[in-house]
This record gives sequence, C-alpha cells and structure tokens, in this order.
Amino acid sequence: MHRSYVNDDITVFWDSDRCFHAKKCIHGAPSVFDRNKRPWIDVNAAPNPRIWQAVSQCPSGALSCVYNHGIRIDFNESECRSIAYDGDAEIGECCYRAADDTWTIVHTGVSPAYGGKGIAKRLVFRVTEEAERRKKQLVPVCSYAAKVLAPRDSDMSN
Ligand code: SF4
Repeated sequence: MHRSYVNDDITVFWDSDRCFHAKKCIHGAPSVFDRNKRPWIDVNAAPNPRIWQAVSQCPSGALSCVYNHGIRIDFNESECRSIAYDGDAEIGECCYRAADDTWTIVHTGVSPAYGGKGIAKRLVFRVTEEAERRKKQLVPVCSYAAKVLAPRDSDMSN
C-alpha cells in the first residue's frame, strides 16, 4: 500500500511493503504516527520540523518526506492522469492507460524548472493511491514510476 499525507507545507509518503514496524516514527512523534487511528498518520498534529525529524528516523525507507513548494497535485480519472499545478499553470503529470482492471503508468514528467522538488514522486504516489483504492492492478512501464514503486528506491528527488 502506498499513501501520501499532505498538509500546507509538506507531503509524507508511506510504503507499507517496506514498513517493518520498528516504531521509530511513533516514538519520534506520537501525536502524528498512531497505529490505532485511521488514517494512522496525521501531518497536522505536530510542527513540520518534528514530523520531518521522525520521518528521518525510519530505518526501512518506508517513510519519506518532501516540501510542497506551493505545488498542488490533482487527480483526473477521466483524463487518466495526476496533474501538478503551480497556481493555474500545469507543470507536471503522471499518465496511465486504463484497461479492464489494470492501470499501466506510461509517463511521468515535470517541467525542468521544477525538478528536484519531489513533484514527480507525488504524482506517481497519487496515481498509485487511486489505483489501490479502486483495487486496480498497477503496472509501471514508465521507468521513473517503476523506480518509485520498486521494493527499494535510491534517489527519488525529481
Ligand atoms: S519507523 Fe518506518 S519502519 Fe518503523 S513503523 Fe515507522 S514507518 Fe514503519
């Protein structure tokens, strides 16, 4: 399961497949990470530096975090894509092909001027979350999406 949790300034990503429940996050920010709540991560329950610090303690890579930089991520099912906006300007997208019960991610791209801000990862996570909620099988043909969704990633800062 892939989920992202967004407040005005940051996005926290969580990949349940990587989480081995070391609970470092819970100890680091118990008001934010609470297994007894749904959703179990509340990114409005502590100051951002505290959340960031707790995320950095995750030993598995299940948690990661980026600043939003004022960029909004929307999802448009009729267009089969998630879309990044800076104000009214579209600056990135993650596109998929929908067929039967499968969504195939075919492209992820962000305007070069916005690189290095984690926007592409936010776009991929948004499509992934929506697919999982609809119980669609996800096939990442796009090489970037495949890297984000691989069991272990390296540099996901695009
Ligand atoms: S610190 Fe990481 S591995 Fe441990 S419970 Fe939290 S998310 Fe899972």
